[in-house]
Amino acid sequence: MINENLIKEYWYDMIKIRSITGEEAKLAEYVADKLKGFGLEPKMSYYEGDEEKQSPSVYAVLDSGKPGPKLMFIGHIDTVKVANGWNTDPFTPTEDGDRTYGLGAMDMKGGLAAILATTKYYSENKDKFTGELVLAFVSDEENLSKGTYQLVNEGLSADMAIMAECRFDNMAIGFRGRYSIEVTVSGKAAHASHYPNVGENALISGSKLAIAIEELPTIIHPTLGGGTWVVRSIEGGVKNALIVPEKCELFIDRYTVPGETYEVCEKQILEAAEKLGLAGKVDVRLKPRKSAYMEPFALEESHVLVQTVKETFKEVTGNEIRIEFDKSVCDSNILANSLDIPTVTFGPSGGNMHGANEYGHIHQVLAATEIYIKTVSKLSK
Ligand SMILES: [Zn+2]
Repeated sequence: MINENLIKEYWYDMIKIRSITGEEAKLAEYVADKLKGFGLEPKMSYYEGDEEKQSPSVYAVLDSGKPGPKLMFIGHIDTVKVANGWNTDPFTPTEDGDRTYGLGAMDMKGGLAAILATTKYYSENKDKFTGELVLAFVSDEENLSKGTYQLVNEGLSADMAIMAECRFDNMAIGFRGRYSIEVTVSGKAAHASHYPNVGENALISGSKLAIAIEELPTIIHPTLGGGTWVVRSIEGGVKNALIVPEKCELFIDRYTVPGETYEVCEKQILEAAEKLGLAGKVDVRLKPRKSAYMEPFALEESHVLVQTVKETFKEVTGNEIRIEFDKSVCDSNILANSLDIPTVTFGPSGGNMHGANEYGHIHQVLAATEIYIKTVSKLSK
């Protein structure tokens, strides 16, 4: 169906190009050149704040010229930093049996290679699909997903999307959402020697509230499971002065499932504070951030995209794919929520993600390419 050596060449070329978050320009150029070679007109997209133009995303559309679905393939072009402990050069693809070691070999340059190869195939076989393929190669995913948010602002759209992240035998069709919440608990400063007759220790109040927060109920979703509360940091007080702590700052991660909004979370915390006699002494706010928070989503297993990938995976590999609902968040949340695009997350995987000696499997990169190509064909009918 497509030249295996060529797929491997894309994968290896991209491992050789350093593209740590914030330094994606060279890889973006590589991808754009390939797309131009396939006869497409790629656009570079820069998010606000990238004045040096070092962190672009690349976007292109392949139009079959016939009416049909608009199917998006999306992957991030950035990698995390080089971890300590590599046994090989992280920028030199190094084969050992079915493993290829390299930074991004798993997360997610194999997925990018599969998208490129799929695009090449359909650019040469326009009669074999209908509608459009939307190709998005995004930056900054390992940081704040600014690349994807920027494309959203620029009008990114599709009827369905395949996120080519590294999940090979387990396709994710739902993800929880996440809020970061800041809470300030106020007490009353006083000289430490007169405490507890005077003063009110904000650290003690904050600690009681922290325990209460982790016990707050959450909605249980049929497929995503429950939401969760994590008190990630407690700060306050001064070590070098005899003062009863006046303020205590809590930092909380709240993983959510559909039905849980920030407003509900805030109300729950304030009610818990009231029960502890802390009414009026607790300030709760969503940690400010430039981009929207990731909201949870869950596709129905019966969705045509889920069923098509599932069926094609079986045809190509002979195995059943596991359907999963992920406890975390990823760029799929943005597509599913900000853009309302049904999204599945499936692509070639490997091991040691975000660590030393990351590796991918060539057979998975090849199989994923074949599955993508066949999925496009089936959805075209
Ligand atoms: Zn990734």
